[in-house]
Formats: sequence, structure tokens, C-alpha cells
Amino acid sequence: MQLARHKTKIVCTIGPASRAESVIKKLIKSGMNVARLNFSHGTPEEHREDIRRIHSIAARLNRFVSILIDLPGPKIRVGKLQDEPLVLKKGDNVILTAEDILGTASRIPINYTGLPQSVSKGSLIYLNDGFLQLRVEEVSGDEVRCKVIIGGPLLSQKGLNLPRSKLFMDAVTGKDLDFVDFGLEEGVDIFSISFIERASDILKVKEFARKRGKSVYIVAKIERAEAARNIDEILDVADAIMIARGDLGVQIRIEDVPAIQKKLIRKANLLGRPVITATQMLESMTENIRPSRAEVTDVANAILDGTDAVMLSEETAIGKYPVETVKMMARIAMSIERQRSAVKWSWDLEEYFRDGVGQKNVSAEDVVSLNVIEAARALNVRLIVTPTHTGSTPRRISRFKPDCWILSFSNHEPTYRFLAFSYGVYPFLVKNTVDDWHDAIMKHIKGLRLAKKGDRVILTEGRSPGQFGDADSLRITTVS
Ligand code: PEP
Repeated sequence: MQLARHKTKIVCTIGPASRAESVIKKLIKSGMNVARLNFSHGTPEEHREDIRRIHSIAARLNRFVSILIDLPGPKIRVGKLQDEPLVLKKGDNVILTAEDILGTASRIPINYTGLPQSVSKGSLIYLNDGFLQLRVEEVSGDEVRCKVIIGGPLLSQKGLNLPRSKLFMDAVTGKDLDFVDFGLEEGVDIFSISFIERASDILKVKEFARKRGKSVYIVAKIERAEAARNIDEILDVADAIMIARGDLGVQIRIEDVPAIQKKLIRKANLLGRPVITATQMLESMTENIRPSRAEVTDVANAILDGTDAVMLSEETAIGKYPVETVKMMARIAMSIERQRSAVKWSWDLEEYFRDGVGQKNVSAEDVVSLNVIEAARALNVRLIVTPTHTGSTPRRISRFKPDCWILSFSNHEPTYRFLAFSYGVYPFLVKNTVDDWHDAIMKHIKGLRLAKKGDRVILTEGRSPGQFGDADSLRITTVS
């Protein structure tokens, strides 16, 4: 068995450009770890087909791919347009309406009946992550008449942002909950929620699943100023976060995005929560076979900041070169990961925990994860091996971004699937607990040719030998 050459996880949005079996196969082989299904687009039937197709191809290739369902949330979107792209020109007049019509250059449908109440004359409306800008001229009954300030091409289902306006919508909609039901029926239990504001929005979805006897993993999409402000309470209850820079860059000042990205990654790393950096990472590859230098640098910098995963949106959903884009992402990740120490990836995560030992905010698991990292570095270890029930131990180790792989063994299938999001973690699903962990694991690793005689391996161990979870010690061993 060969582990991937990059440890940063790659999330690919599946769409018309990538749904076909042949493309999915190539995406998996090129480095896709997570397939994101954006439920703002497509029909339930298409999503069902996508889920089944991805699961079956991954199984046939003997590869591990997780599925993430992206819930639309209270995102205001453009409805269906008659001709695409619809090109809006500067100075044009256009009416926004909640009526269910096919959009044209003079009347564009949107999915928000409260728009006339949310805006007034002079309000600015942004479309397509802010690429297009409208100014409200008049609110008349159910319609909002606007002038195009910045024109450009518009596609169906693109987002609409009202940065400084009050919204009359619930953070988690009834439709979102229907999609959760749908996902659970199809065996998907990882959901990202768009446009959340606070912890209670996440708890609403968790509680909904709990009432159905299920438990779900929630990736909180940070794309509102309120969510960025409430990040501590959000991280307390979310399983992971996504820095959704598309909407975030419209909701807050675009020039503030880089600093917020760094702050969010750091906060997520401190708690050992996976973090996905999303949107426009290799945007120009939607049209071109090569990315811009700025994009390559952006991906590398996100990895250096400590992101677990990088996400592709239009690049793989509707782009001309979905497979080449994933290959490029993998190449960038591979290169910067190797040079992490050479470019002095020197932020103080380890220092933080070292200084905090003995204080309330540092747990026994934190200390074990820190010791694992220090031992791995000092002894030039080949692999870190973690039996786990909840995934907490491998995630805590992963946040330090070790040079070697973390092999994680779990008998809990949801844990196994969610570990697809964590940097440098390769999850294995095992059926039962075993009496002698040490022996069984070492045999397994040798059988897969992941380590050879003489290689050093670190194993984390729990309170009860042979059980998964509660790691409180580590063992350094040499492959014999
Ligand atoms: C974003 O806004 O950056 C994002 C990832 O969300 P969506 O693709 O739903 O617009």
C-alpha cells in the first residue's frame, strides 16, 4: 500500500464537470479525499446518484473518500436564468423579484421574499461573491428595482449578499433539515452549514439528528461577520470549520480576509478541530490549464497557516480542467509540506501547549500529543499509530502537522469517515478490539509495507490495553 504524497486533504466540489464515473475515478486517483455535494445546486435524484457512484468507485479502487453534504442555509440565491451566462451591463436597470420566473436581463428571480423589507433606496446588493454590484433605486411592492453598478456574467443559483442589511430568515431552514434527513438515509453523516451565526445554529442540526437516533458531524461555514465574531462558541460545538472566503469576502471588508483566515485556522488548530480553507484557491483553472502564481502562493500559504484541507469549488464542479486542478493542488501541497521547516513554519502552537502544561486549558491528551510530536521529530519516526474511538487523539496530533503519517485505527465507522478531513491522518476501519494491539498493528503495517525492519514507530495507548480511545501514553517501538 502507498500513502499519498501529500498530507493536506483535498475537498472537491462535484458538479456537471466531475459527476461522470471516469472523472470521479481520476479525481480520486489524483488526490481527492472528500467529495463535497453542494445542495444549493442539483436535484435530490442527482445527489443520490452522485453519493452512490462515489461510494462504489472508491470501494472498487480500494480508496477512502468521504462525502460532505453542503447545506444551503439561509443563503439568498439567484433563481434559474433563461440563458447562461446572463450578462449584466453597467447602467442597466434590473428588477429583482421573488416570483418563480426564468430570469432575463430585465427581471431576475431570487429565493428571498423578504428582500423588499431588507433593502431601501441606495442599498448595495452583491451578486456572485461580489463580482457584480447593484444599487437599489426603488422598492415597489414585492419588487426591487436596481441599477447595475458593476456588470458581468451571472449564472443560475449564484449567491446574493446584503452585507449591512437585516435578514428575515432562520439560520437553519426547513429545507436544510430535509436535506439532513436525505443524507442520513443515504448513509452520509457529515454536513456543512452555510451562513450560520452562532453555536445554537449548529446545535439545532445536531439535535434534529439526535431525535432520529443519529449523530452527525458539522462543519461550520464561517462566512458572516457574526460567525467570525462568535468563533469561540462556534468552535465549542462544531466538529470542523470551513473558511468560506467567497461570502466572507463580501460580508466583511475583503482586505480583512487574510488576517481572519489566519486567526480562524489558529483557533481551530488549538482545539484540534479540522479546518478547510475554501474558495477561489485555483479559480483561474476553471478556464485555464495553469493557475496564476498568486493562487499557487495562496494555497501554499493556507497550508503553512495550518489548514487541514483545501477546497475546490467551481474548479471541479464546472471547470474545464477538474482533474488537472486536483493534480495541481496535490503538487503544491506536496512541495510546501516538504519545505515547511525550511521556510520556518514557526508559529507557536507547540510553545502554547508547553507553556500551558499544568494549567486548566491543557489536558492529558494535549500533553500526549505534544510528546508524540517531539518524540517523532527527535527520533526521526516513520509512522505514528493511534487507536481511537472518537478521533480526538489523531486530530490532536495532526494539528502539529508532523512530517510523518498518522495511521489511525478505529472500530467506529463515523470516526473513520470524519478523519478524512484531518491533515496527515490515514484512517483504517477495524472490526473488533484486539487483545494485543501492539502485535496486531505492527503485523498490519508490515503486511501493507508501510514500514520495514528497523523503522521507528510511535504508538499511542489508552487506559485499557486493546481498547480504542482515551490515549494517555505513548510507546516507541522499532519494527522487527
Ligand atoms: C463560500 O462562500 O466561500 C462557500 C464555500 O460557500 P458556497 O460555495 O456555498 O457559496
